[in-house]
Amino acid sequence: MVAARRPESPVYCVRPHVMERAARLFIEAFPGDSLYAVKCNPSAHVLEALSGAGIRHFDTASLPEIERVMERVPGATCYFMHPVKARSAIREAYSRHGVRFFALDHRSELDKIGEELPATREVVLVVRLEVRHSSVVYDLSGKFGASPEAARELLEEAYSRGFSVGLCFHVGSQCTDPAAYASGIERVSSALADSEIPLACLDVGGGFPGTYLDAPVEELSRYIAAIIQQVKGLNLARDCRLFCEPGRGLCEGGESVVVQVQLRRDRSVYLNDGIYGSMTEEGTGLRHRHRMLATRAFASTQSPFTAYGPTCDAIDVLPHPLELPDDIREGDWIEFGNMGAYGVACSTAFNGFSPEAFVVVENEFVAAGPTLTRDD
Ligand SMILES: *Cc1c(COP(=O)(O)O)cnc(C)c1O
Repeated sequence: MVAARRPESPVYCVRPHVMERAARLFIEAFPGDSLYAVKCNPSAHVLEALSGAGIRHFDTASLPEIERVMERVPGATCYFMHPVKARSAIREAYSRHGVRFFALDHRSELDKIGEELPATREVVLVVRLEVRHSSVVYDLSGKFGASPEAARELLEEAYSRGFSVGLCFHVGSQCTDPAAYASGIERVSSALADSEIPLACLDVGGGFPGTYLDAPVEELSRYIAAIIQQVKGLNLARDCRLFCEPGRGLCEGGESVVVQVQLRRDRSVYLNDGIYGSMTEEGTGLRHRHRMLATRAFASTQSPFTAYGPTCDAIDVLPHPLELPDDIREGDWIEFGNMGAYGVACSTAFNGFSPEAFVVVENEFVAAGPTLTRDD
């Protein structure tokens, strides 16, 4: 790709086969439906790869996301899992897109939905529980979620108004400890206590981790085993559906980004992509693996370099130095792997830089160098 294009702006290398592999893994191992969390990467090629591999259910958080999925994936089912929604979005999702599952975590949202939708058992109101665990990079407790007591009241109220009900939680993104799901399911257990209300669904959320330099992670199967084990103890009704909502776990390996060095100054390089582009997550603590693209022979010795992004803002710099060949120079290309999650989805067009080239490649991304640990 680099030899053919010699790209001077960032190019996303798309690996549909990696996303298909991840999708098959979830479909085979998870004993319920895997809902793809669309916000993670709403690109058409991602929806296509995942649906091609059998993903039919989508965790959506806005009307535009729902419209996008319904336009591109025949036979898709969307779930409206944002606990705070516009009234018009609730109505449109229900009447135009057939959405029947709606998340909430507060009485006020229950009243809102109650005013906008018919109270029938066909509509499932999914109460989101607050969960807290130290092993996630993004902790969403505080912003979303009801306590088990409040959740119990919401369940009872929604059910008595004529809706079906479910429970959900989301441990947060890039969860490095399967025990976080077990503790989420314990919260489910205390919300249910000895309730007689039949749950239509239990949704254990997303958070399944990707592979980054500083995040040694366990196999997906360990996470699913922890979930299965803990769910068994709940004695759910046979027709209670089990959902998970992987975003990162499905698409992180599906894209890498090839960037070019535009200038070298001492031990700094200026790249054509950065914090305002594909690499927002570097700013929140994740470190993407990288490799040099072999367009020439590089020095065998490496040193840490400061890597600046292309915008005029001083915060547009990777927080950690990059190990690069000592003779790196203007014109060289670096490939950053595992950019499929929250890369292009979070990128901005600040200063006129926005990644827009996508090329399908068939190889695997193999990072150079040793894996660093969090202490490095
Ligand atoms: C973002 C989000 C997800 C997906 O999270 P990942 O860490 O990408 O798996 C799933 N569920 C909810 C409610 C979310 O907000």
